[in-house]
Amino acid sequence: MSARTALVTGASRGIGKACAIALAGAGHRVVLAARDMGKLEEAAAAIRAQGGEAHTVALDLSAPDSIPASFAEAASKAGPIHILVNNAAITKDTLALRMKRADFEIVLAVNLTGAFLCIQQVLGSMMKERWGRIVNISSVVAQAGNPGQSNYVSSKAGLIGLTKAIAREMASRNITVNAVAPGFIDTEMTQALSAEMKERILGSIPLKRMGASEDVAAAVRFLVSDEAGYITGHVLNVNGGMLMD
Ligand code: NAP
Repeated sequence: MSARTALVTGASRGIGKACAIALAGAGHRVVLAARDMGKLEEAAAAIRAQGGEAHTVALDLSAPDSIPASFAEAASKAGPIHILVNNAAITKDTLALRMKRADFEIVLAVNLTGAFLCIQQVLGSMMKERWGRIVNISSVVAQAGNPGQSNYVSSKAGLIGLTKAIAREMASRNITVNAVAPGFIDTEMTQALSAEMKERILGSIPLKRMGASEDVAAAVRFLVSDEAGYITGHVLNVNGGMLMD
């Protein structure tokens, strides 16, 4: 397989950074995208130190009009995007009764509309290449629900619908679209949870540990490989058995 170009959103830390490292390790040219250029550069430097090719672009999904320019910059630095990992996301948790409309809307805008707009940016070149891989990072809560996260859960469930719709639209072009649904992964997003909440969640995980970002990255690396070419519209759980369906 010749080297392909992969763009990972939210690659400045956590799961996105691990995905970028894993894809570079699989021989892909990677573009790391997010808002914090300092952290992106650090991650890119780590990849280059291992002999990989890494580029960085500023991407802010909360500013939709700026997204095309970020993708144009990515393509000018690294060529057409063959692999897109929609990983960037935010949370703004509170019970529905108290949730401000703005907090509902911004989470949907970044997590769901943002992913859709990124997909729109890469479909043209993937169709031309007659090869493409898109992986959307959803969550176990999309299927299970979670109190205090009506905005986030809606966005993550929406991503599963989006995955299946685009998978059907693009299958004839040899573009696969899948989702990965992580469970409880040790990143900054979950470090914000209280010790009590962490204990409670750990008690519900059959494998009795939090996941690592690398556990999720390994699933992404598989789904974008040639070996996964007959898998599309699938949701792959990486959750230690927390939810089995
Ligand atoms: P994280 O540590 O909070 O990282 C989130 C990433 O998203 C950062 O790189 C951040 O970069 C980027 N981001 C946030 N807002 C952005 C914006 N407006 N534009 C562009 N990038 C933005 O989260 P994580 O735990 O690694 O989670 C990664 C993915 O896995 C998310 O989709 C999350 O929902 C999902 N997930 C996580 C868990 C878990 O237990 N951790 C479980 C299930 C699903 P900048 O701040 O530099 O922009």
